[in-house]
Amino acid sequence: MKVLMIGAHQDDNEFRCGGLAHRLVKKGHEVKFLSMCNGCGGHHIMTPEETTAKRAKESAKVAKLLGITYDVWTDMNDCSLVADLATRRRLIRYIREFSPDLVVAHRPNDYHADHRASGQLVMDASYMLVVPHECPDVPAMKNMPVIMYNEDNFRDPDFRGDIVVDIDDELETKIQIAHINDSQVYEWLPYTENETVPEGETERYEWLKGMDTSKSYTDKEIMELTRGYAVRYAKTAARFRKELIKTYGKKKGSKIRFAEAYQICEYGSPMTDSIRKELEEN
Ligand SMILES: [Zn+2]
Repeated sequence: MKVLMIGAHQDDNEFRCGGLAHRLVKKGHEVKFLSMCNGCGGHHIMTPEETTAKRAKESAKVAKLLGITYDVWTDMNDCSLVADLATRRRLIRYIREFSPDLVVAHRPNDYHADHRASGQLVMDASYMLVVPHECPDVPAMKNMPVIMYNEDNFRDPDFRGDIVVDIDDELETKIQIAHINDSQVYEWLPYTENETVPEGETERYEWLKGMDTSKSYTDKEIMELTRGYAVRYAKTAARFRKELIKTYGKKKGSKIRFAEAYQICEYGSPMTDSIRKELEEN
């Protein structure tokens, strides 16, 4: 299976889908990340050029850790992505060239204009992928890929957990992904959220998690925690506990601690049992 995960920025795919990406690679599937923007806007001290260069290095490390290929549209500045015809056609050609079975994208309702445009562009491109007279220089696909949205917390409309994936075995990888994106998690995001980052490598790494992962928590306790990357994925498991039990059975589903969630997009090909099995089975 070929899987294309499309985010607006470097860290969107990583934080939202990194566990699934790593699992699929370990199962022998081919996974590619695309960041539609170059990361230039994501820092308060470094210049846009310095930030772009730093983000590129971080993404290369993530690609190596996960065993994926990673493309960045280096000419597309942050805060500049627009769902226009030229960018739609660029995306149609890009998706056709890789010809994925599954695409993971942002929902088109999101707080960030780049996320919204990125999700909208995938929706706009989806049917055109199979239309031969649209972008005739790149052969049209025979079938549309299956398309899923990665998880967000927006409630209007609410995100639906159609596919909720057990990532207990990937939690350490996900924390490492966050750690690799150090200009984000230790510098830029704390700046935007008025957080103080502890000194020292070990202290920072523990702070990144936001919880003591050696302890057990109830779903209610998890929902009361406020920050950290382990907390983020523990909250997904707590939020979609019913779905985890439905997928993995009561015994296992009620014990899963960390999860990623996806909503099936109705504009792609229908989800198949075989793809679902590859996503859900450990
Ligand atoms: Zn983003």
